[in-house]
Amino acid sequence: MILSHDVLIVGSGAAGLYAAYWASSKADVAVMSKLFPTRSHTGAAQGGIGAALGNEEEDHPLWHWYDTVKGGDYLGDQDAQKVLTYDAPQTIYELEHLGVPFSRTPEGKIAQRPFGGHTRNFGERPVRRACYAAARTGHAILHTLYEQCVKQEVTFYSEFQVLDLVLTEDKSKVIGAVAIDMLSGEVHTVHAKVVVFATGGAGKNYAITSNCQANTGDALGIMLRSGLPLEDMEFVQFHPTGLAGLGILVTEGARGEGGYLTNCNGERFMERYAPTVKDLAPRDMVSQCMYKEVLEGRGINRTGRICAEDYVYLNLQHISKEELKKKLEEIVDFATTYLGIKPWEAPVPVMPTCHYYMGGIPTDVDGRVRSDETSGIVEGLYAAGEVACVSVHGANRLGTNSLLDLVVYGRRVGLHVAKNVDSIKLTKLPDNADKRVKDMIAKLKASTGTERHGELRRELSEVMMTHVAVIRTEEGMRTALAKVRELKKRYENVSIQDKGSVFNSDLLEAIECGHMIDYSLVLIEGALVRVESRGAHERQKAGADGKLVKLSRDDENWLKHTFGWLKPDGAVELKYRRPYIITEHPEDGWAPEMMEKMKPKERKY
Ligand SMILES: Cc1cc2nc3c(=O)[nH]c(=O)nc-3n(C[C@H](O)[C@H](O)[C@H](O)COP(=O)(O)OP(=O)(O)OC[C@H]3O[C@@H](n4cnc5c(N)ncnc54)[C@H](O)[C@@H]3O)c2cc1C
Repeated sequence: MILSHDVLIVGSGAAGLYAAYWASSKADVAVMSKLFPTRSHTGAAQGGIGAALGNEEEDHPLWHWYDTVKGGDYLGDQDAQKVLTYDAPQTIYELEHLGVPFSRTPEGKIAQRPFGGHTRNFGERPVRRACYAAARTGHAILHTLYEQCVKQEVTFYSEFQVLDLVLTEDKSKVIGAVAIDMLSGEVHTVHAKVVVFATGGAGKNYAITSNCQANTGDALGIMLRSGLPLEDMEFVQFHPTGLAGLGILVTEGARGEGGYLTNCNGERFMERYAPTVKDLAPRDMVSQCMYKEVLEGRGINRTGRICAEDYVYLNLQHISKEELKKKLEEIVDFATTYLGIKPWEAPVPVMPTCHYYMGGIPTDVDGRVRSDETSGIVEGLYAAGEVACVSVHGANRLGTNSLLDLVVYGRRVGLHVAKNVDSIKLTKLPDNADKRVKDMIAKLKASTGTERHGELRRELSEVMMTHVAVIRTEEGMRTALAKVRELKKRYENVSIQDKGSVFNSDLLEAIECGHMIDYSLVLIEGALVRVESRGAHERQKAGADGKLVKLSRDDENWLKHTFGWLKPDGAVELKYRRPYIITEHPEDGWAPEMMEKMKPKERKY
């Protein structure tokens, strides 16, 4: 069937819903989601959303901007980071007025707590900047925005999985998208002036992750298959506190409320690495320090290896049971349910877990998708939320800045679409718009191949976890690259057992596996050539004595964004773009003190 809407938004997390809310003020908007909207991963975000409201103590967007620049290890675009942090307070108040039930201070203002990497006065000490709704911040925002969209009469297509994009032949303009109705198996083409990708994260290609089942990076795979690039895919954040062996997230709010990490000697080791902010250092640093403690034999079980049996402790015992249940209810629940540990009595075993993609679909500051590393734009195509790379997080995202990115940039996309949708002309739909999808489905159903997508997916996620996680070496990544290339070949021989139409998860998971292999290839190749440590990843090389040592950041050669294309034969092409650094734009009239602060320099906390 052919469906027709002015605007199609793919994904119903906070980014998609805020874009839908504003776009629907001027246009006919449809939201497609492979999940029921309020089951999107945004609902799992516990800790908070950053904004310099200054409700608990003095704070300024300028300080937030500086922390975001520094936290991202200077790879972020500083103009986009300024928009993020300066638009934050007004966006939080808009959310409050739409109905988000934020937690309150005794005098009734929005309450705020400290979070990793957020400081007062340019790094002086931690500041209380994260607004929260108990430990259900994302849930509260998601439900409020969904209600507002229903009120605005946005059309929802739940359990519709988008499988392809329809572009003009020269890829300069979007015409629509192709989706499958999961309930009936019917393939639909959506004819639209605007398509917004808001499909969220992609962490399911790692064996240990905090991400939900739906985070399989479908839009990343679709972009690559459409001949469009992805940006900075090598920067994947590992959250320091995943429940050991499981990856389920213990929010950074736990450290914000006073929790701290210890090694097998009972030592608060973060004091050694980050004397000023200690356990509230940014996530990349804390994860790398935890890896180091375990590798140097100071993990709780002293194995000296990164493995399921070793970890460090998160201590919350000094906080009362009542306080923990009030402020960190979910964490108490996870630790007791999954590990049988009462966190007010005993420490919780934790290790880093794959959490967040800093990279994704390249966009400008209005969310318009870039077609190359220069100034190319695909007309009518937008991206927002975790799937997009604006880039506000650079090489490492600060906690609470993702929810903020969703609402600030989701809103900006919605407003930009509302303003421009009338001037965009609808392009005629080609006759065979859904051919690629129908062929792909027919091929998978007809295949008698011996490969199983579940097995390929397991092998992919294990090799990524072992060789392309927090610590990376050339040798390890070459092993991973050879393996993922092999998986891409074996994927040609995948068959499925369910040949039916109704809720065919066998078919859809096979397609998702194909996407994961594709974007993993771009990720590994980008990481392999980047011979430096920056933000989320620590690159190591054997020194003269054969021991592995950490390479330092190399601004001269690597202060640049990676753009990666996947060729039909599986080869990856890489190009680069300079980030926007304000010091290089004196024409914009920045104050000299500010220019000095924003210059890339060594990060100390
Ligand atoms: C456990 C956890 C805790 C977190 N805590 C915090 C926090 O405290 N603070 C913070 O700032 N950040 C946090 N984050 C990060 C943040 O929650 C995510 O980055 C963010 O929610 C992503 O939102 P989104 O709108 O981009 O997409 P999501 O909320 O992930 O939604 C993606 C949507 O896309 C749809 N979709 C995907 N593929 C398709 C397809 N092919 N066809 C149709 N629909 C599709 C899905 O159905 C879904 O509706 C956390 C993340 C996790 C995993």
